[in-house]
Amino acid sequence: MSLRSKLMVTVVVLISSTLLLFAGVFVALQHGIFLDQARLKAEAFLAGFELQAVKSLAGGEADEIESLVARVEGRAMADLDVAFVSVVSPDNHIVAHTDLELFGSLVSDDFSLAANASSKPLSQLVRRDWPDHVLLVSRPVETSVAGQTPIRWGTLVAGVNMARLNQEILFALIKILGLTMVLAAVGSLILSRFLIKGLVSPVRRLVSAAGGFAQGDFSVRMGAEKDQEFRLLSDTFNDMAGRIQVHAQGLEQQIQLRTGELEVANRNLSSALDKLTAANFRLEELATTDCLTGLANYRHFRQVLDQELKRAERMGYELSVVMADVDHFKNFNDAHGHLAGDGVLRQVAQVLSRRLRQTDLAARYGGEEFALVLVGASDEEALKVAEDIRLQIQNEPIVGEETQPQGRLTISMGVARFKRDGTEGLEDLVQRADRALYEAKNQGRNRVVQAP
Ligand code: GH3
Ligand code: MG
Ligand code: MG
Repeated sequence: MSLRSKLMVTVVVLISSTLLLFAGVFVALQHGIFLDQARLKAEAFLAGFELQAVKSLAGGEADEIESLVARVEGRAMADLDVAFVSVVSPDNHIVAHTDLELFGSLVSDDFSLAANASSKPLSQLVRRDWPDHVLLVSRPVETSVAGQTPIRWGTLVAGVNMARLNQEILFALIKILGLTMVLAAVGSLILSRFLIKGLVSPVRRLVSAAGGFAQGDFSVRMGAEKDQEFRLLSDTFNDMAGRIQVHAQGLEQQIQLRTGELEVANRNLSSALDKLTAANFRLEELATTDCLTGLANYRHFRQVLDQELKRAERMGYELSVVMADVDHFKNFNDAHGHLAGDGVLRQVAQVLSRRLRQTDLAARYGGEEFALVLVGASDEEALKVAEDIRLQIQNEPIVGEETQPQGRLTISMGVARFKRDGTEGLEDLVQRADRALYEAKNQGRNRVVQAP
C-alpha cells in the first residue's frame, strides 16, 4: 500500500469518526432539547386548563369539565400530539377523561397516583415500541390565598404522543448524518490533498533525486523544502551528495593519474621489451653466427644438422653434408697477409650463401674450412651444388690469387649423403664428408669427391 493511500485512508477514518462523534453528541443533545420542549408545551397546555378545572372541581360541575376535556380529544395542540387528558380528584377518582369509559373509575397507574400525591408538576417518558413513546405530564389543581394553606382540588394528567417528535428526531439524525458524510468527504479530500502535497510530494522529490544519484549523476541536488523536517532531510541529502561528488571526483582524478602513469609505464615496458627482443635477437645472432663471415658458426651448424637429421629420418627425405677447405690457404696468407686472407674467407662465404637455397645451411666449420647442410638433396643434386660452388670460386676473381700454385684460388670438397637406415649419427656423417674432402685433397685439390 502506498504512502498516499495510507494517508487517504487515515484521513478519511479520522475525519469520519470525529464528525460521527460530534453528530452523535449533537443528536443526543437535540433529543433532550426536544423532550424538554415537549414537556414545557404539555405543561403550558395543562396550565390552560387549570382555571377552568378549579372552577369545575370547586363548584362540582363535572359536566363542564367533561365537555372541556372532550373538546381536547383528537385535537393536536399546535405541534403537540395530545393522546389523552384526565382530571383526577383528590380521592383518586377520574372525574373527567378523554376516554369516556374511564369516567368515575379509580386511577390505577403509578404516574397518576404519584402526581396526585405531589404538590409539583411531574413528567415521565413511557417507552413503548419505537417511535410510540408517550410523555406523561401532570399539574396539580389548587388555589392559594396569601397566608393560608393552598386548597388542593385535584390533578390534571396529560399524555403526549411522542411518535411524531421521535420521527422528527430521526429525520434530523438522517440529515445530520448526510451532512456529516458530505463534510467528511469534502474535509478528507481537502486534508488529504494538503497532506499529500506536504508529505508525499517531498518524499517523491527525494526518491527522484536519489534515483538520479543511483544512476551516477552526482550533481543531483534537492530544492529548498518548506517544512522543517523535509528541509533538514534535503539539506542532509545535499550535503551527502556533495561529499560523495567530491570523493568521486577525487577518485576519478586518481584513476586518470594512475591510468596515465600506467600508460607511461606500459610504453616504457614495451620499449624495454623491444630493446630486450632486439638484444636477444642480437645475442642469438652472436651465439649462432661466425663474426668474420656472417655464416653460421660451428655450434649452430651442429645444432641445425642434429635437428635436420632427426627430421629427415622422421619425414623420410634426403640430406647431404658437404665439407669444403680452401686449397693452399697457408700459401695465400703467407703471400698477402692474414687480413687479405680474412677477405678471401668472406668472399668464399658470399659465394656459398649465394648458391644455397633457404632451407640449406652454410657454416664456417673452423679456420678456412666450411660445411654445408643440403636439405632434401639427393647424391646427384648434392654433387651438382658442390660442383657449382667449386666452379664459381675457381672463376671468382680474387685479388692476389695469382700467387696460388695454379694461379687461382680454389677449394676442395667432400660430399656425404645421410644414411637413413639408423646406422649413422651426426659424427659419422661429418666424418665421412671429411674423409671425402681429404680424398679430394689427395687427388690434387680443386675437386669434389663423394663419400662412399
Ligand atoms: P691444403 O690445401 O692442404 O689445405 O693447404 P693449406 O695451406 O690450406 O692447409 P694448412 O692446414 O697447412 O693451412 C691452413 C692455413 O689457414 C693456416 C692458417 O694460417 C690459415 N688460417 C686458418 N684460419 C685462418 C683465418 O681465420 N684467417 C686467415 N687469414 N687465415 C687462417
Ligand atoms: Mg684446412
Ligand atoms: Mg686448406
